[in-house]
Amino acid sequence: MKKTMKTLLVVSLALMMMFSFTACSNDETTQNPENGDQEVLTMATNAYFPPYEYYDGENIVGIDAEIAAKIAEKLGMQLEIVDIEFDSIVTGVATGKYDMGMAGMTITEDRLENVNFTDSYATGYQVVIVPEGSDITSPDDLYAEGASQVVGVQLATTGDIYASEDFGADRVQQYNSGNDAVEALKAGKVDCVIIDNEPAKYYVEANEGLTILPTEFVVEDYSICVAKENTELLEKINTALNELIEDGTVQEIIDKYIAAE
Ligand code: GLN
Repeated sequence: MKKTMKTLLVVSLALMMMFSFTACSNDETTQNPENGDQEVLTMATNAYFPPYEYYDGENIVGIDAEIAAKIAEKLGMQLEIVDIEFDSIVTGVATGKYDMGMAGMTITEDRLENVNFTDSYATGYQVVIVPEGSDITSPDDLYAEGASQVVGVQLATTGDIYASEDFGADRVQQYNSGNDAVEALKAGKVDCVIIDNEPAKYYVEANEGLTILPTEFVVEDYSICVAKENTELLEKINTALNELIEDGTVQEIIDKYIAAE
């Protein structure tokens, strides 16, 4: 992981803005049955990624949910959050099933081939969760000669990409959510879980006997993805997002969920 993380390309802003001026045709979601005039802004997410998105009772809450609500408000649209598998978000957005994807999603070159990204609104990095007292005391142990530990990841996340590249498919177990990966760790089905830092903190706090290894990391930029054709919406979201960054709203929302260190 360390090797790949070090070489991970930090994608420049310029790359994110690859406009092609084609008309969009995302009709399915343009009417809100409950509120006649207001269009619906559908956000695809995977709601097992606290504090960015998670269930509070039946509601999906978190940093992404709150920022998205503010963006929708600025756009005069009604936000509808759809909880799907992380692996389906980019495709769902690219094919116009959802207007945008917001899921603590890192901008990567591969994803940029299928969707456009807004400016970044938050950062994260990958960490390793192990059971307390584990033989794995540093990420380097995963790279040791003859190492055979099995790593749990959430399917198609950057953690999955790094782990699969560095350790090979035989040593990686993919799960549909971070929660499932952590449950597998607790059940002894995997030896560690590689996941983003903030969800890791949540999972370790919520589950006794787990701990996070100190990790060298490369910062990943979280951003909102929009279909390549939908440049008009991308621009609108980006403008709203930047206003919310500039007036401090985004930081306020982040601070509400993440205690200052
Ligand atoms: N930041 C990671 C990625 O984009 C994980 C996102 C997630 O699990 N929701 O792949």
